[in-house]
Amino acid sequence: MTDSADDYEDDRFASAGLRLTVDLAALTENWRDMARRSGKARAAAVVKADAYGTGIEDAGEALYLAGARDFFVATVDEGVTLRLYAPEARIFVLAGIWPGTERRFFENDLVPVISSEEQLAFWMAVLADYGDYPCALHVDTGFNRLGLAMDDAIALADDVSRPASFSPVLVMSHLACGDDHSSPMNRQQLESFRSVSDAYEGIDSSLAASAGVFLGSDYHFDMTRPGISLYGGEAVNGMANPMRPVVTAEARVIQVRTVRAGESVSYGRAMKLTRDSRLAIVSAGYADGYMRSQSSGGVPLRQVLPQGGQGFIAGRKVPVAGRITMDLTIFDVTDLPDNAVVAGDYVELFGKNVAVDDVARASGTIGYEILTSMGLRHERRHLSEDD
Ligand SMILES: *Cc1c(COP(=O)(O)O)cnc(C)c1O
Repeated sequence: MTDSADDYEDDRFASAGLRLTVDLAALTENWRDMARRSGKARAAAVVKADAYGTGIEDAGEALYLAGARDFFVATVDEGVTLRLYAPEARIFVLAGIWPGTERRFFENDLVPVISSEEQLAFWMAVLADYGDYPCALHVDTGFNRLGLAMDDAIALADDVSRPASFSPVLVMSHLACGDDHSSPMNRQQLESFRSVSDAYEGIDSSLAASAGVFLGSDYHFDMTRPGISLYGGEAVNGMANPMRPVVTAEARVIQVRTVRAGESVSYGRAMKLTRDSRLAIVSAGYADGYMRSQSSGGVPLRQVLPQGGQGFIAGRKVPVAGRITMDLTIFDVTDLPDNAVVAGDYVELFGKNVAVDDVARASGTIGYEILTSMGLRHERRHLSEDD
C-alpha cells in the first residue's frame, strides 16, 4: 500500500461514526494462553464468522504467525479466504461438504467435517472419484445439533467394508454445557466421547471448545478448539475471565444536548428525566449490533425489561438513556464535568473499560453475539505487536 492510501485509511478511522480496534497482540497472547491451558493437547483456533467479527484475514494470519496450525471455519467460503493467510495450516470446515463444493475443498486443501449420514454417503462417493483425502468426523454425544450417531460412528470405525481411501484425521464432538462447570452433562458427554475416541485409536480426537479447556485435562484429548477465549470473551459462567480484551468498539458523539428535568428522551418517551441533564448522542445503534435490548433500565421493550447498558467516556461509565434507536444511542453524561464530553469525542461501547460480556448481559445475550453482530457499518483497524 502506498503512503497516501495509508493516510486515507487513517482518516477514515479517525472520522468514523463507529470504529473497532482489534488488538492482534492480545489475540495471539490469548491463543498462546489457551495452548498452555490445553496441556499436552494441540490448540486449534476457531475463526468462523469472520473470526468472531475481528476479521478472518488479519486474525487468521496473526494466529498462523503465532504458531496455530489447525483452524476451524464454519463454511467453505471462510476456508477459501483463510487459506490465503494460513498457507500450511490444516483448515477444518464445520458445515461439512455438499455436492457442488468438492472442487473448492480440493483446490484449497480444506478438510470437511462430516457430520451426518448423508454427508458420509456423499463423501464416500467423492472418495471413489478423487481418491485418498482427509476428513474429520463429528459425532453427536448429546448436543443434538450436528454429528453422526455414536453407534454409527463406532460401527464405522470397525467397518472392514469401508473404502481404504476413507481416512479420517480427527474425530470430534461438542459439549452442550461446557459453560456450566456444575452440569453433569459434561461428564456424560466425556464418557460417551471416550468410547468414540477409543474406537478410533490412532486418530486424533477433540472435544473441548474454550469452555472445555477450562474443564481440565480429561477434556483435552489431542486437540482443543478455542474460539471465544481467543477474542477475549467469557467462556465459563461465573468464572473471572482470565483473557485479555481484544476488541474495542467506539462510537462518535455527534451532539451533546442539555435537557430540562421533566422532559423525556427518545422513542416512546420511555425515559423521563428527573433532573436537568446533558445527553451525548452517539453514532451507533441496533443496526450496528448495539442491541436495542440494552435500552435503559425500566424501559419496556417487547420481551424484556432491561437493566440498561453502559458506555465509557472521559474516565467513567455512563448509562444509556432511553431506547436505543437504529443508528443512534443516547448516553447520560450529566455526572461528568461540564465540557468533559464534546461533539467529536468517542464513547467506548466495549473494550478495556466496559467488558463485552457486560454489554452482552445488559443485552440479554452472550459476548459471542455482540462480537459477531457488530458487522455492518464500522471502520476496523488492526493493531499488531509493533503498534
Ligand atoms: C464455535 C465452535 C467452537 C468454538 O467454541 P467457543 O465456545 O467459541 O470456544 C468449537 N467447536 C465447534 C464445533 C464450534 O461450533
